[in-house]
Amino acid sequence: MVEQKDDALLLRALPFSDSSLILHVLTKNHGRISLMARGARRAKSPFRASLMPLYHLNVRWREPRTGSMGTLIEVHRLSSLLDEQKILAGQLLLAKANVLFPDGVEHGYEELHKALNLLSKQNENLGLPTAIWSMLSDAGLVGDFTHCWHCASEINLDDKMYWFKAHSLCSKCANARGLELSSGYRKSVLNLLKGEHIKFSTNYLNTWQQITDEVVKSHR
Ligand SMILES: [Zn+2]
Repeated sequence: MVEQKDDALLLRALPFSDSSLILHVLTKNHGRISLMARGARRAKSPFRASLMPLYHLNVRWREPRTGSMGTLIEVHRLSSLLDEQKILAGQLLLAKANVLFPDGVEHGYEELHKALNLLSKQNENLGLPTAIWSMLSDAGLVGDFTHCWHCASEINLDDKMYWFKAHSLCSKCANARGLELSSGYRKSVLNLLKGEHIKFSTNYLNTWQQITDEVVKSHR
Protein backbone atom coordinates (compact mmCIF):
# COMPACT_ATOMS: atom_id res chain seq x y z
CA MET A 1 0.00 0.00 0.00
CA VAL A 2 1.21 3.45 -0.86
CA GLU A 3 2.55 5.65 1.87
CA GLN A 4 2.55 9.44 1.68
CA LYS A 5 4.15 12.19 3.68
CA ASP A 6 3.34 15.90 3.70
CA ASP A 7 3.14 19.15 5.65
CA ALA A 8 -0.34 19.64 7.02
CA LEU A 9 -2.74 21.82 8.99
CA LEU A 10 -5.39 20.14 11.11
CA LEU A 11 -8.88 21.50 10.37
CA ARG A 12 -10.80 19.32 12.81
CA ALA A 13 -10.74 16.01 14.63
CA LEU A 14 -13.96 14.07 15.16
CA PRO A 15 -14.28 11.22 17.69
CA PHE A 16 -14.74 7.81 16.10
CA SER A 17 -15.56 4.56 17.95
CA ASP A 18 -14.21 4.27 21.52
CA SER A 19 -10.70 5.48 21.01
CA SER A 20 -10.06 6.82 17.53
CA LEU A 21 -10.29 10.12 15.68
CA ILE A 22 -11.18 11.04 12.14
CA LEU A 23 -8.99 13.92 11.03
CA HIS A 24 -9.74 16.50 8.35
CA VAL A 25 -6.45 17.89 7.18
CA LEU A 26 -5.25 20.40 4.59
CA THR A 27 -1.96 19.21 3.13
CA LYS A 28 0.58 21.18 1.17
CA ASN A 29 0.73 18.86 -1.86
CA HIS A 30 -2.23 16.48 -1.56
CA GLY A 31 -5.13 18.89 -1.01
CA ARG A 32 -7.68 18.18 1.67
CA ILE A 33 -7.66 14.62 3.00
CA SER A 34 -9.37 12.58 5.71
CA LEU A 35 -7.32 10.31 7.94
CA MET A 36 -8.21 7.69 10.52
CA ALA A 37 -6.05 8.11 13.63
CA ARG A 38 -6.50 4.75 15.32
CA GLY A 39 -6.34 4.80 19.10
CA ALA A 40 -5.56 8.54 19.12
CA ARG A 41 -7.78 9.16 22.15
CA ARG A 42 -5.98 6.57 24.30
CA ALA A 43 -3.81 8.06 27.03
CA LYS A 44 -0.67 6.38 25.73
CA SER A 45 -1.22 7.06 22.03
CA PRO A 46 1.83 8.61 20.36
CA PHE A 47 -0.57 10.70 18.26
CA ARG A 48 -2.11 12.37 21.28
CA ALA A 49 0.47 15.02 22.04
CA SER A 50 1.14 15.88 18.41
CA LEU A 51 -2.33 16.22 16.96
CA MET A 52 -2.86 19.90 17.71
CA PRO A 53 -4.67 22.48 15.63
CA LEU A 54 -2.89 25.75 14.79
CA TYR A 55 0.52 24.09 14.54
CA HIS A 56 2.63 23.16 11.56
CA LEU A 57 2.30 19.38 11.34
CA ASN A 58 4.10 16.80 9.29
CA VAL A 59 2.04 13.67 8.69
CA ARG A 60 2.74 10.26 7.22
CA TRP A 61 -0.18 8.10 6.14
CA ARG A 62 -1.21 5.03 4.19
CA GLU A 63 -3.52 5.56 1.26
CA PRO A 64 -6.79 3.59 1.31
CA ARG A 65 -7.36 0.57 -0.92
CA THR A 66 -10.92 1.74 -1.42
CA GLY A 67 -12.78 4.86 -0.39
CA SER A 68 -11.16 8.13 0.57
CA MET A 69 -10.05 7.67 4.18
CA GLY A 70 -6.33 7.17 4.68
CA THR A 71 -4.72 5.80 7.83
CA LEU A 72 -2.41 7.97 9.91
CA ILE A 73 0.96 6.33 10.58
CA GLU A 74 2.95 9.13 12.15
CA VAL A 75 2.58 12.81 13.02
CA HIS A 76 5.16 15.37 14.08
CA ARG A 77 4.19 18.64 15.66
CA LEU A 78 6.43 21.48 14.51
CA SER A 79 6.14 25.23 15.16
CA SER A 80 3.10 26.98 16.59
CA LEU A 81 1.23 29.32 14.24
CA LEU A 82 -0.44 31.64 16.74
CA ASP A 83 0.16 33.12 20.18
CA GLU A 84 -1.93 31.60 22.92
CA GLN A 85 -4.24 34.61 23.29
CA LYS A 86 -5.31 34.22 19.65
CA ILE A 87 -6.28 30.55 19.84
CA LEU A 88 -10.02 31.28 19.89
CA ALA A 89 -9.77 33.54 16.84
CA GLY A 90 -7.70 30.80 15.22
CA GLN A 91 -10.44 28.24 15.91
CA LEU A 92 -12.97 30.53 14.20
CA LEU A 93 -10.67 30.73 11.21
CA LEU A 94 -10.38 26.93 11.06
CA ALA A 95 -14.19 26.65 11.07
CA LYS A 96 -14.36 29.04 8.09
CA ALA A 97 -11.59 27.19 6.27
CA ASN A 98 -13.45 23.92 6.83
CA VAL A 99 -16.38 25.34 4.83
CA LEU A 100 -14.38 27.26 2.20
CA PHE A 101 -12.07 24.35 1.36
CA PRO A 102 -14.33 21.27 1.44
CA ASP A 103 -13.53 17.61 0.80
CA GLY A 104 -11.99 16.96 -2.57
CA VAL A 105 -10.38 20.38 -3.12
CA GLU A 106 -6.75 20.47 -4.19
CA HIS A 107 -5.93 23.70 -2.39
CA GLY A 108 -6.51 25.37 0.97
CA TYR A 109 -3.20 24.78 2.75
CA GLU A 110 -1.42 27.88 1.44
CA GLU A 111 -4.59 29.96 1.80
CA LEU A 112 -5.15 29.00 5.44
CA HIS A 113 -1.47 29.41 6.16
CA LYS A 114 -1.51 32.95 4.75
CA ALA A 115 -4.66 33.81 6.72
CA LEU A 116 -3.14 32.53 9.99
CA ASN A 117 -0.06 34.59 9.29
CA LEU A 118 -2.19 37.73 8.82
CA LEU A 119 -4.01 36.99 12.08
CA SER A 120 -0.70 36.56 13.90
CA LYS A 121 0.49 40.01 12.77
CA GLN A 122 -2.42 42.14 14.03
CA ASN A 123 -4.45 42.42 17.17
CA GLU A 124 -7.39 40.05 17.10
CA ASN A 125 -10.05 42.71 16.36
CA LEU A 126 -8.35 43.56 13.11
CA GLY A 127 -6.54 40.32 12.42
CA LEU A 128 -9.60 38.08 12.30
CA PRO A 129 -11.59 40.06 9.68
CA THR A 130 -8.39 40.48 7.65
CA ALA A 131 -7.68 36.75 7.76
CA ILE A 132 -11.26 35.85 6.83
CA TRP A 133 -11.33 38.29 3.91
CA SER A 134 -8.02 36.91 2.68
CA MET A 135 -9.48 33.38 2.59
CA LEU A 136 -12.72 34.54 0.93
CA SER A 137 -10.59 36.24 -1.70
CA ASP A 138 -8.34 33.21 -2.24
CA ALA A 139 -11.40 30.94 -2.45
CA GLY A 140 -12.73 33.21 -5.23
CA LEU A 141 -15.80 34.38 -3.28
CA VAL A 142 -14.85 38.06 -3.37
CA GLY A 143 -13.11 40.19 -5.98
CA ASP A 144 -10.63 42.98 -5.42
CA PHE A 145 -11.33 46.67 -4.79
CA THR A 146 -9.74 47.94 -8.00
CA HIS A 147 -12.22 46.34 -10.41
CA CYS A 148 -16.00 46.41 -10.60
CA TRP A 149 -17.19 42.89 -9.71
CA HIS A 150 -19.93 43.16 -12.30
CA CYS A 151 -18.51 44.76 -15.46
CA ALA A 152 -14.82 44.20 -14.52
CA SER A 153 -13.84 47.75 -15.46
CA GLU A 154 -10.83 49.12 -13.63
CA ILE A 155 -11.61 51.46 -10.74
CA ASN A 156 -9.13 54.00 -9.49
CA LEU A 157 -8.63 53.69 -5.73
CA ASP A 158 -9.52 57.38 -5.44
CA ASP A 159 -12.95 56.79 -6.97
CA LYS A 160 -15.92 55.47 -5.08
CA MET A 161 -17.33 51.97 -5.26
CA TYR A 162 -20.70 50.78 -4.03
CA TRP A 163 -21.64 47.64 -2.13
CA PHE A 164 -24.81 46.18 -3.62
CA LYS A 165 -26.11 42.60 -3.27
CA ALA A 166 -22.79 41.26 -1.95
CA HIS A 167 -20.79 42.82 -4.82
CA SER A 168 -18.49 45.83 -5.01
CA LEU A 169 -19.61 47.82 -8.04
CA CYS A 170 -18.57 50.82 -10.12
CA SER A 171 -20.90 53.83 -9.93
CA LYS A 172 -22.37 52.96 -13.33
CA CYS A 173 -23.33 49.39 -12.37
CA ALA A 174 -24.48 50.45 -8.89
CA ASN A 175 -26.71 53.10 -10.49
CA ALA A 176 -27.13 55.10 -7.27
CA ARG A 177 -27.91 51.99 -5.21
CA GLY A 178 -26.00 50.37 -2.38
CA LEU A 179 -23.58 51.34 0.35
CA GLU A 180 -20.69 53.62 -0.54
CA LEU A 181 -17.26 52.05 -0.10
CA SER A 182 -15.01 55.08 0.18
CA SER A 183 -11.51 55.18 -1.23
CA GLY A 184 -10.19 55.50 2.34
CA TYR A 185 -11.93 52.33 3.39
CA ARG A 186 -10.77 50.33 0.37
CA LYS A 187 -7.17 51.52 0.70
CA SER A 188 -7.18 50.56 4.38
CA VAL A 189 -8.46 47.05 3.64
CA LEU A 190 -5.79 46.56 0.96
CA ASN A 191 -3.10 47.66 3.42
CA LEU A 192 -4.37 45.26 6.09
CA LEU A 193 -4.27 42.42 3.55
CA LYS A 194 -0.59 43.26 3.00
CA GLY A 195 -0.05 42.81 6.74
CA GLU A 196 0.55 46.50 7.39
CA HIS A 197 -0.23 48.16 10.71
CA ILE A 198 -2.69 50.98 10.19
CA LYS A 199 -5.47 52.81 12.03
CA PHE A 200 -8.84 51.35 11.14
CA SER A 201 -11.93 53.05 12.55
CA THR A 202 -14.81 51.26 14.29
CA ASN A 203 -16.95 52.53 11.46
CA TYR A 204 -14.77 50.77 8.89
CA LEU A 205 -14.74 47.65 11.03
CA ASN A 206 -18.55 47.58 11.17
CA THR A 207 -18.76 47.99 7.40
CA TRP A 208 -16.29 45.14 6.92
CA GLN A 209 -18.25 42.89 9.27
CA GLN A 210 -21.46 43.68 7.40
CA ILE A 211 -20.13 43.03 3.90
CA THR A 212 -18.32 39.85 5.02
CA ASP A 213 -21.57 38.51 6.50
CA GLU A 214 -23.38 39.26 3.24
CA VAL A 215 -20.75 37.42 1.19
CA VAL A 216 -20.92 34.37 3.45
CA LYS A 217 -24.75 34.38 3.39
CA SER A 218 -24.90 34.72 -0.37
CA HIS A 219 -22.76 31.58 -0.79
CA ARG A 220 -24.62 29.31 1.58
ZN1 LIG B 1 -19.33 48.11 -13.31
